[in-house]
Amino acid sequence: MKDEPPAKRRQIISKTAIGDQDDASTVLETETSSIEHQQQRSSSSISCPSSSSPTITKESMEGKVNPAPHGDNDNLPTTNVIADKTNDITKNLTKQTTTATIFNNSSTDSKKETKIEEEAEVDRTSKDYYFDSYAHHAIHEEMLKDEVRTRTYEMAIKHNAHLFRNKIVLDVGAGTGILSMFASQAGAKHVYAVDCSSIAEQARQIVQKNGFGPDKITVIQGKIEEIELPVLEVDVIVSEWMGYFLLYESMLDTVIYARDKWLVKDGTGVVFPDKAVMYICAVEDGQIKKDRIDFWNNVYGFDMTPIQKIALQEPVVDIVDSKAVVSDAVPILHLDILTCRKEDVEFAADFELTANRNDYIHGLVAYFECAFTQVHKPIGFSTSPFCRYTHWKQTIFYLPENLVICDKEKITGHITCKPNRKNRRDLDIGISILVDGEHSKSSFSVDYRLR
Ligand code: SAH
Repeated sequence: MKDEPPAKRRQIISKTAIGDQDDASTVLETETSSIEHQQQRSSSSISCPSSSSPTITKESMEGKVNPAPHGDNDNLPTTNVIADKTNDITKNLTKQTTTATIFNNSSTDSKKETKIEEEAEVDRTSKDYYFDSYAHHAIHEEMLKDEVRTRTYEMAIKHNAHLFRNKIVLDVGAGTGILSMFASQAGAKHVYAVDCSSIAEQARQIVQKNGFGPDKITVIQGKIEEIELPVLEVDVIVSEWMGYFLLYESMLDTVIYARDKWLVKDGTGVVFPDKAVMYICAVEDGQIKKDRIDFWNNVYGFDMTPIQKIALQEPVVDIVDSKAVVSDAVPILHLDILTCRKEDVEFAADFELTANRNDYIHGLVAYFECAFTQVHKPIGFSTSPFCRYTHWKQTIFYLPENLVICDKEKITGHITCKPNRKNRRDLDIGISILVDGEHSKSSFSVDYRLR
């Protein structure tokens, strides 16, 4: 990736995922009361026809059926909620492995190990990190500390060991090698761990240190699109390719390339994960919008609105409080990773949102869910504001007008998304909105660019 700009998919954040999750696990229990509270607050500020309280429920991953509002994880095969219950099991698994590894390592020649480390030491400058942001450990630290993400992969792989036993596995974008090691623990015959970044150098040492010899995992540094594999076919592809707004960074292209080139063609091939769905909903976010957008109206007495337009066109990746969500969430994109084509990242969808209280709408929020469904009991995770924190957070599209919406009123819209022509890793996202409500009658379009 040395010829490409740095990946901004994973921003380095000060707040760690693990720290957040203690609080996040209570979100689902408190959300109903928050909504009621919010409703009371909103009702006093805007007068609209009265209606009943919203019931927030979460649709299944398939999401093809009538798009239901979000909130209750009953039907969704996500681990954001069940991870708590399974954490003990997975922690125990990890603990046992770690103990075994330490024991194994203690019997190896420590001098030899030090030598390997010295040889592998590379003098990296900030310029190198600029051109290869995945080389820096911090980006991997953030991903690994995202327990919702990492534990879901771990569970999906280890609870479905029958799909891995004696199989050839390809890890597309292996990073530190974490998914390759899970796959090997699940009994894979051999794992090819491919990454174009120089993190592959550390991955090579990591797999070796953890007892996965050259007969188990082979780390290959190179672009998937350019490397040769020592095998013609693989049985399983594992990859964590998702970016902000699911598609930012366009790494899905790479997974599709690998699938078409190497995944066994007899219909038994497995892709982990194999489903992704993106959703959109409306939010009341006055305070932040004021801070980020209205700010430019008056900066130390100067009118800086030329920047305001640019600021508005840039979607914001941040944590959205579930209490700020004022509508149901509806799917705008379904991807089947087993069959989708490169062109599918270019999509257009109509949507209709239904307000679930009287409030303002300052923006639309997109988030995604991913699932492993080629298994007995599908599991996945959600990046919804109603679920536990993930490092993908949510993507907010601020609107040029603040809308006033009444409970049960509809917001109709259209969204288009395509890679930017000049920089394919950026996304051009167009959103059109039409509201014909009691207080707001408006229609407008905004061209956003996620860069
Ligand atoms: N699998 C790891 C890392 C995921 S991040 C984990 O789950 O923690 C995605 C990784 O894909 C990055 O390390 C990046 O360097 C790599 N990558 C992106 N595009 C690639 C390509 N075309 N070929 C090989 N690796 C790629």
